[in-house]
Amino acid sequence: MKKANKAFKSLALSLFFSLLLTVAVSASAPRASAANATSRRSQVFSYLTQNIGFNSAAACGIMSNIEHESDFNPALVIIDSNGLPSGGLCQWNGGRFRNLMSFCNNNGYDYLSITGQLAYLKHELQKSEFRKIYNYMRSVPNTQEGAYNAGYYWCYYFEVPSNRASRSASRAAAAVNTYWPNFCVNNISAVLPTSKADDKTLDIDRLININWNKASGNYTGYGVYIAKKTGDDFDWENAIAIPVGAQERRVTLDLSKLGLGRFAVRVFAYNAANGFMGDCDNTIKFNVECLEHRFETTKVVDPTFNTPGKKIMVCEKCGEKQTITTPKLSLDAFESGTISGFDVTEKTADTVTVVWDAFRGAQGYRIYQLVDGEWVKLRRMEADELTCTIKNLKAGTRYTFKVAAYAKNGSDTVYCDGSELSVYTRPTGVKLTDIDNGQGKVWLQWTASKKAEGYSVFASTNANSGFEEVRTVKSGKTETAVNNLTSGVRYYFYVCSYITNTKGNKIYSDPSNVMFAVVK
Ligand SMILES: [Zn+2]
Repeated sequence: MKKANKAFKSLALSLFFSLLLTVAVSASAPRASAANATSRRSQVFSYLTQNIGFNSAAACGIMSNIEHESDFNPALVIIDSNGLPSGGLCQWNGGRFRNLMSFCNNNGYDYLSITGQLAYLKHELQKSEFRKIYNYMRSVPNTQEGAYNAGYYWCYYFEVPSNRASRSASRAAAAVNTYWPNFCVNNISAVLPTSKADDKTLDIDRLININWNKASGNYTGYGVYIAKKTGDDFDWENAIAIPVGAQERRVTLDLSKLGLGRFAVRVFAYNAANGFMGDCDNTIKFNVECLEHRFETTKVVDPTFNTPGKKIMVCEKCGEKQTITTPKLSLDAFESGTISGFDVTEKTADTVTVVWDAFRGAQGYRIYQLVDGEWVKLRRMEADELTCTIKNLKAGTRYTFKVAAYAKNGSDTVYCDGSELSVYTRPTGVKLTDIDNGQGKVWLQWTASKKAEGYSVFASTNANSGFEEVRTVKSGKTETAVNNLTSGVRYYFYVCSYITNTKGNKIYSDPSNVMFAVVK
């Protein structure tokens, strides 16, 4: 925690303010009012925290002392009862005031400027005689109590006024009561949506809602830092600035790009005009894991008869890889295998479309046709082509096809037994050429279809649906009457030729054109 804090401060502060620049410019124009006491305080606070490295509590303690010494007037010079001058923010006395003047002179500062005096303060604190004070001020906790102790200690050992103890106590009280509420932006607590958010384990693809309590003090926005732990430390690298406005005090984060691990989030209030951040300790920590992998297959290496195959899967949420090994192919199982799902999905007068299921280890398929008791090769299909349309067939004819898988075994190609089926192509269709109406009947006439065993007449009172077979015509006739129709009703007709298969079922041609007539 200590370590992380330090790393956070040095890195995060510079990062945050560089990030803030754009926000600050658009958010609010700097106030025009000149170097009043408020802006002097802010200037001193930023220097103490950012240039010297004190925390807010230490800075508050020092500022309470500066108020009592000079009321933040760098040009104040008072001649003491010994006739020696005391000057500047800290009312440096006698020899120290002379040192301040010569330091400023040597370093190009105006000795009556805040900038010059703060630079001198920093310089003075490096000296061995002030080392103990500096170390103490660096060690106070960043709390109310820390501000009290800093105010007291700085008065007692650095300023060393008369009536040390009582003055130290009153300056310590002012550090807590006047400065701490304004310069430590306090009471910020960041919480995840549920009450026990800290130390939860969250799923990587889950959005993380961060809410926090309203800050007190003079702030213009909030900064949210996200850190991922590497080794022992958190890397405070990602910051989001949230200017005070409609979206204040909550942010939804998608941390999935940062991967799995332990994370910390902390929320700061900042003042863009003064350039300071409240740094209260409100870090929450949680783990981001992939609670339920969602694997997708990214690569498949097929097994062969000699080598096992593998399937590489990657979790689309967290990127974790998993390899599943598939066993080698068995030559016996392959060669004696049949292919399931071999079936006809569509047929016309001159085509038949067949499908089949994938066969394990297949590098491709071959379609055969049975011709005079011999299997004749028709088509070669790729491993992922599990359908084939066989063309240029004769209408109304029975065909027998076979599908077999093949694979390389060394330099040989081996085939499985495969599966076969028989199918009739549809007979050639006909064209309705004439329709005539009569009393309770119509007459129809159509063209002939070669090979047809007969024709079926279909009728409906709707042009598009509801057709039923109403008449079968055999023995080569291409005309018929359809009787028992209702007078005054319009009927629609089409005609199919048909053949019958070995089981005696009709196999129809495609329907003819539709014609209609109103029955007399
Ligand atoms: Zn995963």
